[in-house]
Amino acid sequence: MTDNINFAIERNPNPADAAKIAEAHANPGFGNYFTDHMVIIDWTREAGWHDARIVPYGPISLNPANAVLHYGQEVFEGIKAYRHADGTTHIFRPDENAARLQCSSKRLALPALPTELFVESLRQLVALDEAWVPPHGEDKSLYLRPFIIANEDFLGVRAAQRATYMVIACPAGGYFSDPTQPVNIWLEAELARAGRGGTGAAKCGGNYAASLLPQETAYANGCEQVLFLDSCEGKYIEELGGMNIVFAYRDGTIVTPESDSILASITNKSLLQLAADAGMRVERRKVTIDEWREGAATGDIVEAFAVGTAAVVAPIGLLKSQDFTIENPPVTEDSVAMRLRAQLTGIQNGDVVDTHGWMVATK
Ligand SMILES: *Cc1c(COP(=O)(O)O)cnc(C)c1O
Repeated sequence: MTDNINFAIERNPNPADAAKIAEAHANPGFGNYFTDHMVIIDWTREAGWHDARIVPYGPISLNPANAVLHYGQEVFEGIKAYRHADGTTHIFRPDENAARLQCSSKRLALPALPTELFVESLRQLVALDEAWVPPHGEDKSLYLRPFIIANEDFLGVRAAQRATYMVIACPAGGYFSDPTQPVNIWLEAELARAGRGGTGAAKCGGNYAASLLPQETAYANGCEQVLFLDSCEGKYIEELGGMNIVFAYRDGTIVTPESDSILASITNKSLLQLAADAGMRVERRKVTIDEWREGAATGDIVEAFAVGTAAVVAPIGLLKSQDFTIENPPVTEDSVAMRLRAQLTGIQNGDVVDTHGWMVATK
């Protein structure tokens, strides 16, 4: 039942006042303040998607036997809304996130939410909570978190017959405190976040759960993020816990690792498109950790950066591991990472012409 695209709206009787929103905008962090409303759409095997509604933001009640609590049948998305200079608000490539959510759902045996329902849910929420989209020109945005959970009170192990889609939203600043400051990465040599035939290419909570212990090791070694290698041979570079990795070569080539267990980042896809537009050679292929070590040593690889919606582009300073360290040259304004970052955030914030039609107005 996807023809019912009418969202019933129950307004929050106690919305945040301007002072509260200003406080959230002044120092948003990531996931600290949530807007006044949230989207809910239910799904059952018999009725399909139904009962689309926007209600006041708040706790939901789940039976302790709910399948999602036991078997982790859940998928999610991350996407941002931006304030342009003329005051209008826009979301970045929501059709891409809709398609990815459908792929993730398929792998987790959850129902596929139609693209138009997904995009409309984001537009409706941003339109209603518009005051929460941070001002233009501050490198801030409204982060949207759509997700689907199995929502059936049943302990039998099978795909749930009931599911719920929700969207919550929070103002967000930079994921790392200073976007020009390189981050240090820890190379995880033993544990994997995903493997062949597993759920690595799906955006699901379980992949994140699997990355948390290695992430703790990264922190203990003075690093902000962890880099995973392929789980079969332990020699090909996969990605970070929640970000893809991209390399810039001295000859102007841009390379990102290719694997069935990498989550296809929309930020990565967009940056590679911008690089190709600028005449750079772009490659998606297997990259070994040895290629990076040797390339860094000879000066053939001049940059490495982490990419994703939350951080956009984060240059990597050091790659540390048990046995060796790779040090990248200092980041300058002229670095490929910084130039691509400036171009992408320029498009997102409406300051650079959007030749690909990536931005979707929310009204
Ligand atoms: C979400 C995510 C990314 C980044 O994808 P974007 O579409 O750029 O936000 C990268 N890796 C993993 C594991 C992710 O979950």
